[in-house]
Amino acid sequence: MFSEQTLRELNAKFSVLDQLSTAQEVFWVNPKYQAELSEKLEADQGQASAPYREQYPQRHLGQEEILQAEARLSRFASYIAQAFPETRSSGGLIESSLVLIPHMQNYLEQHYQLTLPGKIWLKCDSHLPISGSIKARGGIYEVLKHAEGLVLQHGMLTTDSDYALLAASEFREFFAQYAIAVGSTGNLGLSIGVIGAKLGFKVTVHMSADAKAWKKALLRSKGVEVIEYSSDYSKAVAEGRKQAEQNPCCHFVDDENSQDLFLGYAVAAKRLQTQLTELGISVDAEHPLFVYLPCGVGGGPGGVTFGLKQVFGDHVHCFWAEPTHSPCMLLGLATGLHDQISVQDIGLDNHTEADGLAVGRASRFVGKTIEPLLSGLYTIEDAELFRLLQALNTSENLKLEPSALAGMPGPARLISSKAGQSYLRKHGLINKLPQANHIIWGTGGSLVPEEIMNQYLSR
Ligand SMILES: *Cc1c(COP(=O)(O)O)cnc(C)c1O
Repeated sequence: MFSEQTLRELNAKFSVLDQLSTAQEVFWVNPKYQAELSEKLEADQGQASAPYREQYPQRHLGQEEILQAEARLSRFASYIAQAFPETRSSGGLIESSLVLIPHMQNYLEQHYQLTLPGKIWLKCDSHLPISGSIKARGGIYEVLKHAEGLVLQHGMLTTDSDYALLAASEFREFFAQYAIAVGSTGNLGLSIGVIGAKLGFKVTVHMSADAKAWKKALLRSKGVEVIEYSSDYSKAVAEGRKQAEQNPCCHFVDDENSQDLFLGYAVAAKRLQTQLTELGISVDAEHPLFVYLPCGVGGGPGGVTFGLKQVFGDHVHCFWAEPTHSPCMLLGLATGLHDQISVQDIGLDNHTEADGLAVGRASRFVGKTIEPLLSGLYTIEDAELFRLLQALNTSENLKLEPSALAGMPGPARLISSKAGQSYLRKHGLINKLPQANHIIWGTGGSLVPEEIMNQYLSR
């Protein structure tokens, strides 16, 4: 906890804290954003750029690592296609579509009483196969990487083998000797649990109080052990980490620190680049791309943003969104304190219906890594998430979970807020807006049971 005195000093220094601590909606532009960084990244030819090396000498994150992650997912494609028949049409690739949402764009213009130039797209990670959320990227990737490490180490496969073999009972029995644990608000646990149990691992998911009952029930039906906590996400992660440390055969998926999760998310950027090319959409100085991502602890939006900056450099502008009651990343970035401050420290309760985003303390690793890459971050009230959830269903017949709507007001908030306008002016974007593309990252929802979705739709 911070003393009254320290809080007063922080408040005096960072004016945004006033609005944050009273749970108001804010639009914040990141003063540490470095537009020229992408050139440095290119010059480094995929080596982690200087700022990252200084802060994280032990980590090497760059183009090369993303390519390795992509190659690993390709090796697993035959297994995925075999184990999850719904991925056969995409050849075992876990990928989502990118769709135009013109009717929703009309709604947003009326709702926010402004004109939204350019096109608005929805990236449907809500409908990713296997676990129906963005966690199907990072979470599944990390489990696959761990499984691959074990079988390679035991000489059971080589990287040239057909990984479809992993579906055989011999491998399931092998993996049954190993455990995997994770702390989650719901969707990460769901992803880790589903893929882990499918491979044969003993999986334990430590769920925070925010986790929805149906997610726990679904996991238990797959033979996953679910441990429930009455406290929030940070506690569930800490307990999971502690228990996993006592078992040398247990791999802990560390949502707050994992480089593997991060890289799994980052692969999305290359896939998106291919999709945009297929759709004939240019991303360049004349055609800026704006991407709006919901943020919890930071790994999902962090990995995607990191990948996107590698691919599109200065021509992509990434904005994140958090609930007004859980703005942990904004708090960490604005104060520079990262994981040394929590939303509870400034008097917020971290209670939100957006369970995927109910995180009170941000990842330091992610905050530090994306500090020069992130354009800005805004907060949104729960009531607005539900309004947008209902509008998206009415206008486009698309059903998302509450967390996944956080990106939706992004274009309107960017264009209408003072801070957003000054960002656009500073980067010479005002007259490019008519040919801009905006991607709202829809991060979850397709697995929500019908009766729960009906409750969301009738609130
Ligand atoms: C987890 C999650 C996010 C955010 O990802 P973080 O890695 O926690 O920042 C966004 N939307 C949904 C639906 C999620 O489950």
